[in-house]
Amino acid sequence: MARDVKGNDRHCVFCGRSENEVPLLLQGMDSAICSDCVKLCYDYVSNIEKSSRPAPRKIEDLMKPKEIHAWLDQYVIGQDRAKKLLSVAVYNHYKRVNNNLAADAANDLEIEKSNILMVGPTGTGKTLLAKTIAKLLKVPFTIVDATVLTEAGYVGEDVESILTRLLQEADYDVNLAERGIVFIDEIDKIARKSDNPSITRDVSGEGVQQAMLKLLEGNVVNVPPKGGRKHPEQEFIQVNTQNILFICGGAFEGIERRIAQRLNTQVIGYSASNRPTVDKENLLKYVSAQDLRAYGLIPEIIGRLPVITYLDQLDRAAMLRILTEPKNAIIRQYEKMFELDGLKLRIEPEVLELIVDTAIENKLGARGLRSICEKIMTDAMYEAPSSRKKTFVLTLDYAKEKLREDS
Ligand code: ADP
Repeated sequence: MARDVKGNDRHCVFCGRSENEVPLLLQGMDSAICSDCVKLCYDYVSNIEKSSRPAPRKIEDLMKPKEIHAWLDQYVIGQDRAKKLLSVAVYNHYKRVNNNLAADAANDLEIEKSNILMVGPTGTGKTLLAKTIAKLLKVPFTIVDATVLTEAGYVGEDVESILTRLLQEADYDVNLAERGIVFIDEIDKIARKSDNPSITRDVSGEGVQQAMLKLLEGNVVNVPPKGGRKHPEQEFIQVNTQNILFICGGAFEGIERRIAQRLNTQVIGYSASNRPTVDKENLLKYVSAQDLRAYGLIPEIIGRLPVITYLDQLDRAAMLRILTEPKNAIIRQYEKMFELDGLKLRIEPEVLELIVDTAIENKLGARGLRSICEKIMTDAMYEAPSSRKKTFVLTLDYAKEKLREDS
């Protein structure tokens, strides 16, 4: 048998086989390892590294709620209450993910997640807030529309397909997906149509809510990898939703009526003089779990959405700010586009007011701003690059004419 310099047997200290039993024996200072064990160790270490990525961060390194709020301010105008709640929820999400990553599951206290529900009219920034947060966290993010979801077996998408998209966003890195954010839009559309399930059975709504509950709760879910890369060895990918943050949004049209009803009943018993004053113009800010239940969300779902917040209807002043202030404001984008052609774009302030007033007229909220801008700017963007002028001045008359031509 082969011996080392000290006269000992040469064998692998991992598997114990001697030199002539292994393909290759690598000699170290006092011992040796065989090439088979090196390969095994390599696979093992790679897997460990992959599953523990990224290392938990220190609490001092995390962005504090106030900093998260300030970050959101760069992109989203107004909506302070929602920003505050989201900042806290996201900070806690960070902390929870880190704690749970570091926790010895058996001993340590596991912090439960706080999924979020945002109630507010369309085009007020719900999706934008969720998107901006995902950008900040640098985690995979996906938006799904609850209206396309159905119970398994029905035409439409299974609820699990929500996670398929998140996996695709994470390039099928399950670990990464398991820390992602899912924005479920139009959650109000899967509300049960009646308060009393025995009167009107709205199977699809309630069934989808039940199916969705599984995801929101934090479970290991079998996700079909369809639509993306093929995974021949496995039909399903298992995804643990425990650390996935779900942010739901919905307009909940007409919920004000239920809020008003509840507030009215609550104030009975107060004498007229000490009755709490209610801001009747903005009833949404009083939205509670009770109202959502009355609207048709099942209590279990509401229980899994502990953070409820609302978004304000955007007024004229907010819309004007949206045009120019956010980091990627529409007007800034046009200015940049002109600048790339070596041109300066100057817009008369009255044009901005015209754009906002038109959007308000069309009742599209901030969502309508871009298409109105496009109508006004298309001809200018067509002509300007070939013109010799260095500045393009967008006047009120020009803008009005373009809008008239288009209508
Ligand atoms: P929804 O509330 O329906 O999810 P979105 O977030 O999709 O509305 O808003 C549509 C578009 O309108 C956004 O992409 C953004 O350009 C603009 N917008 C809406 N609300 C705001 C806001 N509060 N601040 C800045 N831009 C906004």
